[in-house]
Amino acid sequence: MKILNAGNDRFPDQLGNVIKNIRQNLVVWSKDKKTGEEKEIKKDFILIQEEKKVGGIVAFKEEIYSKDKASRAISNIMDLIQSEDSDTCILCGESFSRPYKKLQQASYPFVTKIKSLSGVRSYKDGEVYSFKEYFSNFCPKCYLIGILVWADNGLVYRTFPRGKTFVFLPKMNSIKELTIFKESYREILYPSGRYSNLRVERGSNKVENTLGEYSTLLCFYERFFLEVEDPVAYATQWFVVHIPLGTMKNVKYDDLSLKGNIVHIIREISTDKGPPIYAEIIKEIYFFNDNSKGSPVNWEITRTIQEKLSESFLKDDFRHFTKQLLPRKG
Ligand SMILES: [Zn+2]
Repeated sequence: MKILNAGNDRFPDQLGNVIKNIRQNLVVWSKDKKTGEEKEIKKDFILIQEEKKVGGIVAFKEEIYSKDKASRAISNIMDLIQSEDSDTCILCGESFSRPYKKLQQASYPFVTKIKSLSGVRSYKDGEVYSFKEYFSNFCPKCYLIGILVWADNGLVYRTFPRGKTFVFLPKMNSIKELTIFKESYREILYPSGRYSNLRVERGSNKVENTLGEYSTLLCFYERFFLEVEDPVAYATQWFVVHIPLGTMKNVKYDDLSLKGNIVHIIREISTDKGPPIYAEIIKEIYFFNDNSKGSPVNWEITRTIQEKLSESFLKDDFRHFTKQLLPRKG
């Protein structure tokens, strides 16, 4: 934010150019089923609204992601950041002059249009007095940071069509450690994957077809320790954002805290003491229906159990891990 206050005239254009490049992380390319033409599709979990596509290109409603309007938008935001303070931001607590935009899911996924979720009840003489809303108490700095997070190619994600997306945000003690960690794993992610961005191997455009929240995280650690030699820093705590894909976007999150020794075990067995727990054990366990005409794999049960195994492994819950493997009826 120091740069923002330095009165750098070229800054809006410079940042605008950077955004033009990282904008591609918000979209994927796909063939139109009818015309066969290639077109852009917004990734399913991106909470920025879009207008009608122009020439097959996604038109985001936020000007900062528009080719022509980005530097103007940044200029406006900069002016607001630098102007006199009078209001207090509901997110960062700093004072600011005017919001650039109201608090919306595009820049802060947890906000909703439901009053009681975005306001605070106040009381007068012991009676309900009003719901005060804070949609306007949102400073332009927080907008800028929030809206740009979508373009970060260090977000690990896994989307289940007709279900939801899990977005994994590492939690660390310092920005420095976080930066080192994220820089070290960007390579193992494929930014153009629609439903998953965890590469099956370095350089590959194929991605892991993990089963849920925990198997994705377990698989991530495994890929990370296999691909990144002697990592300097890595997270054991994660903030996992659950973004539903339907029209009602009630975004939730999980605050995961893993034991250091569990992560250490994944590291040990994925590097040299193998076989890797996810790739060669959990992913290779199949469950069959007991059927006299042959035994087809029951994919639903298989995927459920594989996910449960990943969960109990990460949570260091041996009893639940073994329980998954007991024979069951059916
Ligand atoms: Zn703020």
